[in-house]
Amino acid sequence: MSYKSIIGSKKREDKISIALFGGVYSQIVSHLLKDGKSPQEVNEILKRFGKNMGERLVITSGFVDYFKSGINKLEDVAKSVALIYKMHTNQELSDIKISGSGDLIEASDTHCAFCKDVKLGEMPDLHYCETFSGIIEYLLDIYGWNISVHEKECKATGADKCTWVIRIKGRK
Ligand SMILES: [Zn+2]
Repeated sequence: MSYKSIIGSKKREDKISIALFGGVYSQIVSHLLKDGKSPQEVNEILKRFGKNMGERLVITSGFVDYFKSGINKLEDVAKSVALIYKMHTNQELSDIKISGSGDLIEASDTHCAFCKDVKLGEMPDLHYCETFSGIIEYLLDIYGWNISVHEKECKATGADKCTWVIRIKGRK
């Protein structure tokens, strides 16, 4: 099954569930902040949340089918990140590129689905969309990639796009 047809088969309910997800997600973040958690603690919680969501995506999406032959090259990692984003948000990343000395991938979206309509003002230490980092770490771990992901800049806290940096540490 092709990547396009997996996405094309998504139903209208997916859009509704994404809108619901955004609402629930912002409630969770504001609850954590009101609860007195530091931005760093919130980031960690959101990343763990993402890992749980990654587990759900394996069960409910065609992700595993699409990468049956494995994720073997850096280009495949970049492709899988774009696909994971699309499967989860039903929209495309605005940019994804391999940088550094071939050990970094930067993915960004100027219309990020995670923080759509969220404005938290100046909170540079809070990575509102860190959940996506957790999703990527979980799914690529299954394919034997030792990576760490963090959100470098976030629209919710004033940047003009959300950017995630995927650092490749090697294969397991
Ligand atoms: Zn975002």
